[in-house]
Amino acid sequence: MPLPTPQINDENRAFWTGGADGELRFERCQACGYYLHPPSPRCPECWSDDVAPEAVSGRGTVYTYTINRQQWMPDLEVPFVLAAVELAEQPGLRLIARVVDCEAPTIGMAVDVAFEPRGDAFIPFFRPAS
Ligand SMILES: [Zn+2]
Repeated sequence: MPLPTPQINDENRAFWTGGADGELRFERCQACGYYLHPPSPRCPECWSDDVAPEAVSGRGTVYTYTINRQQWMPDLEVPFVLAAVELAEQPGLRLIARVVDCEAPTIGMAVDVAFEPRGDAFIPFFRPAS
C-alpha cells in the first residue's frame, strides 16, 4: 500500500508544491508579516485577509520529537524520527515532519529542509544542518 499523498487545493497548493522549486512556503499576512500555519484565509494576529504564500529559509531547530517504531502502513519504513521543527523566521511557526540522517536528535538541534516528491506534492522533511 503506497503512502498517502496530500490532497492539494487552492488553500494548500503553495505549501505542497513549493518543493518543486526547493522552497518551503507558508501563508504570510501581507499587513503585519505574521506567518500562518496551517493555512488560513485570515491572519489571527491582525485579522487582515490579505495573506499570500512566501518562502522561508528552510532553516529551523528541533522543538520536540518522537521516534516512531510502529509500522502503521506496509510501505512505511521504521523506525523514523518525527519532529516539531520551529522555523527560524518566527517563534511558534512549527512544522511536523520527519528528520532523517539522525537516529536520535536533540532538542534545539539545527536542521535544514529538503523535499521528497510524492504524487503531485513535495513532502518536506529535515536533515541535520550542514
Ligand atoms: Zn496580520
